[in-house]
Amino acid sequence: MSAGVAWIKHLSRRRGKETFQQAFRMYRFHKTPFEQIIHNILSVVESYNASYTFPTVASTALQKPDLLRKIVDAKCEIAVHGYQHVKYPLISAEAQENDMGKALAVFRRMRIPVKGFRAPYNAYDSNTPSIVEKHRFLWDAGIGYANENRSKTDFFKVRQSGRDLDFFCIPLNGLSDDMMIDELQYSVIEMTKHLTKALDEAKKTKGVIMFDLHPIRIGQPQYVEVLDRLVSHGTKIGAWFPTVSEAVNTKISKGDWKGYDFCCLLTGDVDNFHFSDYIKRLR
Ligand SMILES: [Zn+2]
Repeated sequence: MSAGVAWIKHLSRRRGKETFQQAFRMYRFHKTPFEQIIHNILSVVESYNASYTFPTVASTALQKPDLLRKIVDAKCEIAVHGYQHVKYPLISAEAQENDMGKALAVFRRMRIPVKGFRAPYNAYDSNTPSIVEKHRFLWDAGIGYANENRSKTDFFKVRQSGRDLDFFCIPLNGLSDDMMIDELQYSVIEMTKHLTKALDEAKKTKGVIMFDLHPIRIGQPQYVEVLDRLVSHGTKIGAWFPTVSEAVNTKISKGDWKGYDFCCLLTGDVDNFHFSDYIKRLR
């Protein structure tokens, strides 16, 4: 066997193992019913009068309308995370437009108000921003994940063909739960340390910081304490925790954070409620 072939075999074995390990992790996480996961998150944010924004895949949302209603009633927000969890750069502009339109129609039918968008996998191509504008979204929460945008400290706009597009973009901090838990295998204490440090830095800028903490991980009994410690610390140092729409609207109308020192946006994507739907995505 040549060295090259051996290397490819090694890589594919390794990739196979990683995919298996990740699937096993998700299998264990999905043993906690999503109702419990959302209840754990809402209990924490409600106790601090904070809010959370959940970009949700529309075809998933359809499976649990009562749960979505519960989120909205708890003064939290739902946003669009595609109709299906597909990588937009891999589909045509027409298919992207179709997917976004189908998602909006679902939430309209469910009477769930949605003002924001985050593309699945935070993956955009050059067509996506104008399609987001065309669908009249107020804000986008995924363009801010690009390396050149992550460290920004205020809302920003996408500039195309010599003009700013209508919607607001938000920088997305790189400390995601999947990186901290799945990749780096941080403990609760380590996660808390890194997240609160990021909050301390954000306070200095008097700007906005946004985290993507997926409910499937942060809502688990063993990790929801991280969320509690994060919001507790933020509350002590003058952070405001509104929904994304509330933050954008306040900034537009008043130009500040309602008297708070800075703004922290807690967001978490809901890709699927059931392990069987997670597995379908791997195919
Ligand atoms: Zn997602």
